[in-house]
Amino acid sequence: VNDCALQERLGAKARSPRWAIAAKFPASQATTRLLAVEFGVGRTGAITPVAVLEPVQIGGVTVRRATLHNEDELRRKGLMLGDTVLVQRAGDVIPEVVKPVLENRTGQEQPVVMPSRCPECGFSLVRVGQEAITRCPNPNCPAQRVRGLIHFTGKGGMDIEGLGKKAVEQLVSQGLIQDIPDIYRLEVAQLAGLDGWGEKSAENAVRAIQGSRTPTLAKFLTALGIRHVGEVTAQLLAHHFAALPRLLLADEADFLHIEGIGEQMAASLVDYFQDPTVREMLSRLESLGIRVQEEKPGAETRGGLSGSVFLFTGGLARLSRHEAKARIKELGGQVASGISRKVTHVVLGESPGSKLKQARELG
Ligand SMILES: [Zn+2]
Repeated sequence: VNDCALQERLGAKARSPRWAIAAKFPASQATTRLLAVEFGVGRTGAITPVAVLEPVQIGGVTVRRATLHNEDELRRKGLMLGDTVLVQRAGDVIPEVVKPVLENRTGQEQPVVMPSRCPECGFSLVRVGQEAITRCPNPNCPAQRVRGLIHFTGKGGMDIEGLGKKAVEQLVSQGLIQDIPDIYRLEVAQLAGLDGWGEKSAENAVRAIQGSRTPTLAKFLTALGIRHVGEVTAQLLAHHFAALPRLLLADEADFLHIEGIGEQMAASLVDYFQDPTVREMLSRLESLGIRVQEEKPGAETRGGLSGSVFLFTGGLARLSRHEAKARIKELGGQVASGISRKVTHVVLGESPGSKLKQARELG
């Protein structure tokens, strides 16, 4: 869409504008041999299988490793060690294994053995409910702690320049940081003496750390890396609770009251904020001078729709439904996608659908 006025009207989704699509180059593929499968531990304890490949050139880059996403994906593809596999790089994303080339099997291939214990800390792994993910349940798992710190300082978190993945790994292995508050106690002299660091880079890093002492509530919540809580949810929470202390007092019902927060997220939030180690960590951050900004009282208090939840059914005459919803949010109201007891107003358009009947039934 080239018309600027139309672009404005279409707006943007969380990650991309609605009026443009990305044209991607076709994936480049190659075949190589699967030598081994290694298992990594993510920030939330998720175990991720990674394929170790015989080095192969794809699109001018040597590929040695490729993601297998998760255990189910690995099983679904039916890969065996020693298989010839088709590997692809789509755009700039991490290469992935597409499938085994079955015609090339010799009978010498070995099955991939799934680990039953965390490769980093040895805890027995668990698989919860319908999730396709196997996790390490150890809250003190060193791998998870490092990933959590990398997330906190990284671009999706507090975005502290000079504390990228490599630097964080180095600081942890040198015993300089163990958890988030430790970051704020780092001194120039400690960093300057490390491999690959100098006076200048140490000063810059400490300045960047000190510069991150007053994050917005949304940014801080995203950086904490609470399971199931991404950027969008963090914004929702910041908008609703405005200040961190209020979040610490919330129970599951308070979270569920917010449109857009489901049971899984609410449970995860309560688990997180009621965890004594998290509370201790937050109070240490406070004593180190971290001041999470209060969300400015905005539309929510100015608008007259605070506390109201709207549900739309049927076509609207003057506004698109998207525009109407945006207007309600500006005025502090919430919009529901389905009928529930939280809904306070039902907006009837032309030829309303089944939601009207359901709403009548719920009174
Ligand atoms: Zn572990």
